[in-house]
Amino acid sequence: MEAPTILVTGGAGFIGSHTVVALAEAGYRPVVLDNFSNSQQDVLEGLRQILGYEVPCCVADCAHRSALFEAMEREQVRGVIHFAAFKAVGESVREPLRYYRNNLDALLTLVEVMLELGVHDLIFSSSCTVYGEPQQLPVTEASPILPAISPYGNTKQVGEEILRDVVRAGKPLRIISLRYFNPIGAHPSGLIGELPIGVPNNLVPYITQTAAGLRPELVIFGDDYATPDGTCIRDYIHVMDLAEAHVAALRSLERLSALASYYDVFNIGTGQGASVLDVVRAFEDACGLSLPYCIGPRRPGDVAAVYADATKAREQLGWTAHRTLHQALADAWRWEQRLQHLTGSRAKCQ
Ligand code: UDP
Repeated sequence: MEAPTILVTGGAGFIGSHTVVALAEAGYRPVVLDNFSNSQQDVLEGLRQILGYEVPCCVADCAHRSALFEAMEREQVRGVIHFAAFKAVGESVREPLRYYRNNLDALLTLVEVMLELGVHDLIFSSSCTVYGEPQQLPVTEASPILPAISPYGNTKQVGEEILRDVVRAGKPLRIISLRYFNPIGAHPSGLIGELPIGVPNNLVPYITQTAAGLRPELVIFGDDYATPDGTCIRDYIHVMDLAEAHVAALRSLERLSALASYYDVFNIGTGQGASVLDVVRAFEDACGLSLPYCIGPRRPGDVAAVYADATKAREQLGWTAHRTLHQALADAWRWEQRLQHLTGSRAKCQ
């Protein structure tokens, strides 16, 4: 039997590229669709080296209806994993219209084209930001959804609502939204990983760039939270575990193929909370380095603690995270070192 073709929108991005690897390893035929607005063509070379062949790639914007239609028809797509979206929280606050236009246009166009072509299975990348500051930990899928703090977070909430409503209306789609906790790490080969543009917002790229000497020190955003060591707690998940969750979700949709319409959401996290200081110590331990850091003020919008109850994904998708925080940090460090090697001495940014 021919390998089923899965379209991966945003497949050159951080989570997308790792999901391409997981799909190929699971016997699918991934096809990337990416406009390279926030990713680089080098990713395709990394994928080629990992997989041993060239992954088909369509350079197009997901909101470009005719390009999307043609790509999906030509490649005989059986299912879609939708990553293509802008994702910088701070930028979304400054440029809300650009975020709503981009993220919602892409999603709406994709769903319409899927319906036109009779493609039924869709995995949507959502986020634990929908839970805001949770009242109870760990958070289950039944935890209340709080009003989004940023336009970015709102595009995820609205995206989930759009998909739920389309399924409620009886449209022939089977959809799973995955609510990601904090993806970190890189493929263990060191050939693909995260490519933050400019100063990284996220903790782990900031740590690896500091360890590489690109930044003088990590600033820990607050140590006066109501947590055991005063620093914020998150659920850091290895990006390959997260990538494999998409394969598990696709398989689950295939098992549900007797249903004409289906919608559900799943938390994708490890179920373990780690504080910022835990991550710093784990990094030092995993990489045999000492990391310069200082304590700075709280970052506006940060919640004290959030981590997943991932029982539903284990029970219904048969998926669970199995890589450790140490592994994720060692892989992130291997990737950072490769980036340094590739780019020589990257221009130091202030
Ligand atoms: N953080 C930090 N210094 C940094 C970047 C992040 O102390 O330079 C903290 C941040 O306050 C949060 C945690 O690291 O508690 C994870 O932040 P990140 O931006 O990676 O993910 P978020 O959970 O905010 O989406």
